[in-house]
Amino acid sequence: MRSMAASRTKRTDEGDAGLPHCIDCGCCCFSPDPEYIRVFGIDLDRMDARAQAFTIDHSGRVAMRMAAGRCTALTIDPVARTYVCAIYEARPDVCRSLARASSGCLGDRAKKADAPLLAVAALLAQSRARA
Ligand code: SF4
Ligand code: SF4
Repeated sequence: MRSMAASRTKRTDEGDAGLPHCIDCGCCCFSPDPEYIRVFGIDLDRMDARAQAFTIDHSGRVAMRMAAGRCTALTIDPVARTYVCAIYEARPDVCRSLARASSGCLGDRAKKADAPLLAVAALLAQSRARA
């Protein structure tokens, strides 16, 4: 698990040269670690039942539920290629703590640039297979 993690996924921030808006990125919401985003009591207090449904208890260590290498609260539109946090207002502190354009953000973008693109490709392939 990382000690500092993901960030916002809404387009509420200023555009920086070379850095996409979070809604067009999503890199920091990806990880193979099942406990990547730890959820603590202060986070659960903020979450309603819908938000808590995205969490999972790993033998007393609560975390955001991960699947397919990403947080299950990350909603991907594969056509628009957008990445939106489904519980943005109630997201855990660890997600709030990673500022866009910070070293953590830039590190995640450098390490995981392919992950959002691969997720989009997988969703498009699933969509084509169902058609
Ligand atoms: S990696 Fe940075 S730009 Fe991308 S979603 Fe996270 S905070 Fe936003
Ligand atoms: S809770 Fe939201 S911001 Fe945090 S990792 Fe999940 S999708 Fe990303």
